[in-house]
Amino acid sequence: MTFENSIDFAKKLDAQDPLKEFRARFLLPQHNSEPIVYFTGNSLGLQPKTSQAAIQQELNDWATFGVEGHFLAKNPWMHYHEFLTEKMAKIVGAKNSEVVMMNQLTVNLHLLMVSFYRPTKQRYKILCESKAFPSDQYALQSQVKFHNFDPKNALIELAPREGEYNVRHEDILSAIEKNKDSLALIMIGGVNYFSGQVFDMKAITEAGHKVGAIVGFDLAHGAGNINLELHHWNVDFACWCSYKYLNSGPGSVAGAFVHEQHHKKTDMPMFAGWWGTKKETRFLMGNVFDPIETAERWQLSNAPIFAMAACKASLEIFDEAGMKNLIAKSKILTSYLEFIINDINKTKNNCLEIITPKELQGCQVSVVAHGYGKTLYNKLIESGVIPDWREPNVIRCAPVPLYNSFEDIYRFGNILKRLL
Ligand SMILES: *Cc1c(COP(=O)(O)O)cnc(C)c1O
Repeated sequence: MTFENSIDFAKKLDAQDPLKEFRARFLLPQHNSEPIVYFTGNSLGLQPKTSQAAIQQELNDWATFGVEGHFLAKNPWMHYHEFLTEKMAKIVGAKNSEVVMMNQLTVNLHLLMVSFYRPTKQRYKILCESKAFPSDQYALQSQVKFHNFDPKNALIELAPREGEYNVRHEDILSAIEKNKDSLALIMIGGVNYFSGQVFDMKAITEAGHKVGAIVGFDLAHGAGNINLELHHWNVDFACWCSYKYLNSGPGSVAGAFVHEQHHKKTDMPMFAGWWGTKKETRFLMGNVFDPIETAERWQLSNAPIFAMAACKASLEIFDEAGMKNLIAKSKILTSYLEFIINDINKTKNNCLEIITPKELQGCQVSVVAHGYGKTLYNKLIESGVIPDWREPNVIRCAPVPLYNSFEDIYRFGNILKRLL
């Protein structure tokens, strides 16, 4: 498609967009009574208009039924997490039995590593991203230390080559090969939060398994953004949050995936809680943990209903829109954004450098603004644009297909051009 940097052209693309009516299902923050150009759906997704009623329903049922709401509520709380499973499983390409919504992302990472990072003297290393999201770094370091290993030699960090922004796939494969006798686990983000680079999870999983390692992914920036086929790729485990692309509200309930091949293993170490024991016997209050033979086995506690209500409302929208359609629109949105950035570059000395690799990206486009500092970001905010800023000079823009428009992208370009 040949793009044009004009408002009319942007409006024409919006008019042709098969998903255009979804924007009206969200509450868009305003600036001078116009919708803000919101490019931070990768940080906190916007609020669906249905979230409030979904939470209100549970408040009402709590008021009406008290404890009986566990069974009598419109959506009985006892089984509330199950209302989310099918729609969530579709988004990450999993069987229903492989997915459960529970806890927070970092909690799930720890719980799954308790089961899947089982270092021995021989095999104790973890392959991870250099400069992974800090919470993941802390989780990995502390897990390594918990098993009395030293993060300095137990964590192998994948970094871009000197002068490059992305990790080369061949370098990942060679790191796996090089550590083939000592590698216990590969644990990386499916999408790098900084560069927006999408990793070839299928190939990495295959390569990891070939040398006898377990393979897990943090999908905080992947779930609801890119095509995922966790089951078919044979990924061992994964976790993600639901407040970024999945629009479930700040700190909302997170997701976990465990491949079905692990569900029946009886020798798997884990931290257990009563929500992981079989439903039929849970309320006999016995002292023997009888694990559910699905991902639900990793559940600890009864469900946080209000967070799950918001998550449920959001997943219903995803289900209606369909991941395939969202990804198709996302590709055009990011292409248009890149076109606009390159167009601006023509008159601005090529000061903007896109670092997200074209063939390996989801919604996010990370841009280095050469010669500019945080004042540029502050001015963008003052002008009604919310991108994300990472020191020293990276602007992360995530136009998301559910609620961002081509007009948003045009307006962003127009404002950015004026500020440079
Ligand atoms: C957003 C994000 C987190 C945040 O963790 P919480 O436990 O949800 O606070 C962790 N890891 C990655 C990769 C993220 O993108």
